[in-house]
Amino acid sequence: MHNEPLVDNRRFLFVMKCSCTKQRDVQKLGEYPPGFLWRPKKLDSKVGGEVVLFRCADCGASWQIDRWARDGVNLCVRVDDPDNWQTFDDKPLRYRYLEQNRGGKSTERCRWQCCDKYAVKGLAFCAECAFEKMGVLE
Ligand SMILES: [Zn+2]
Ligand SMILES: [Zn+2]
Repeated sequence: MHNEPLVDNRRFLFVMKCSCTKQRDVQKLGEYPPGFLWRPKKLDSKVGGEVVLFRCADCGASWQIDRWARDGVNLCVRVDDPDNWQTFDDKPLRYRYLEQNRGGKSTERCRWQCCDKYAVKGLAFCAECAFEKMGVLE
């Protein structure tokens, strides 16, 4: 009996081919489509094809990915409910990315009128006001 090769083969089969579970829910794209997906399958698109939904063939996770053609910051966003992706609001995750990228929240309040959220570190405004009113994307 040759047990050694059998053990090696079995171990190989159980290695995850993707690294979806290790990824943050939102991150800046380093490549398109991102290399952590295994055999990404395009499921859907919106915004005239600029935002694309992919599924990882290994773990089945779905990711929304900005195409390179898109102006500004290209992000990769985890999608928990791919069936309702067309109406999925990705803004909160785009705000979160801006906050993550700048090291989180500060202890100061946002200076935008009538806004009482905490400002992003190094900014006078919260992520939402910075993004929506000042055009700060990252
Ligand atoms: Zn995966
Ligand atoms: Zn604000």
